[in-house]
Amino acid sequence: ATPTAIMVATGVGANNGVLIKGGDSLERAQKIKYVLFDKTGTLTQGKATVTDAKVFSAMSRGDFLTLVASAEASSEHPISKAIVDYAQHFHFFDGDSVANDTKGHRKQSKYSGWLLDAVDFSALPGRGLECFINGKRVLVGNRKLLTENGIEIPSEAENFLVELEENAKTGVLVANDDVVVGILGVADPLKREAAVVVEGLTKMGVTPVMVTGDNWRTAQAVAKEVGIQDVRAEVMPAGKADVIRSFQQDGSIVAMVGDGINDSPALAAADVGMAIGAGTDIAIEAAEYVLMRNNLEDVITAIDLSRKTFSRIR
Ligand code: ADP
Ligand code: MG
Repeated sequence: ATPTAIMVATGVGANNGVLIKGGDSLERAQKIKYVLFDKTGTLTQGKATVTDAKVFSAMSRGDFLTLVASAEASSEHPISKAIVDYAQHFHFFDGDSVANDTKGHRKQSKYSGWLLDAVDFSALPGRGLECFINGKRVLVGNRKLLTENGIEIPSEAENFLVELEENAKTGVLVANDDVVVGILGVADPLKREAAVVVEGLTKMGVTPVMVTGDNWRTAQAVAKEVGIQDVRAEVMPAGKADVIRSFQQDGSIVAMVGDGINDSPALAAADVGMAIGAGTDIAIEAAEYVLMRNNLEDVITAIDLSRKTFSRIR
């Protein structure tokens, strides 16, 4: 393709909300063989909601929700907002009292007093979080997080986790002072166009793959809903880049579509990184394509555009 054709294609992309950083990635996109999709916030809306809350201790439901919301209040994970909102509703029946500032960070307003102080907070990517409340260690996250910290998951809790996961939900374990005190179920619906895009890619000869930090059972339930056969679950952020490289082994051109900080190593490792425009700045920087409309159909638009631009010289 001539420089003019590349310029025209870049313009057509921009008009459709597909920002392309450079002619090289535009050229590579025609040869994409695999598209690896992150799950949370990419295939799903990233608007998680709490659907279940089960307390496994003498703690009251209100105290349990206050504890977990206090722990999650410092986190920026989509799960965190869902949990804080749920606890807020439980206590006040008033969702507006946790306002968002323009950057989407939570601003505690009139009810800021209900949260407990959480100190020594650390976000543990792919696992959850750790902090201390009332002098006791609080862990919120998945099985791996608890197991790594030597905390036993009682069979009653394990059974409830499995039930949630079989229904495509993520189970969030809460441990207070190293004892499991409850579990929250979090659901995050698929984007409306997700299944159509998966089908469309398959018809174009491109294989869709899901790669996620979430557990196997939830990942497989979501993959089934969206029509993806190849699933890589329980992948830590650095592991997502390794998954990309494993698909590149035989020389295949691999695209990654993601939105999170945890996707940026994979976006950088991919031959074509595509970031969701509503995603984190770090993901957008690591990617060569930015899908400004946050619509997965633009993955197909991007490949089509490349194929059309470069078909004449083949
Ligand atoms: P994904 O790859 O699907 O975007 P992440 O790598 O962000 O997922 O997280 C993987 C898993 O770690 C989540 O499914 C959840 O179980 C757990 N997790 C991560 N952050 C949190 C949090 N703030 N609270 C509870 N659980 C969390
Ligand atoms: Mg994500």
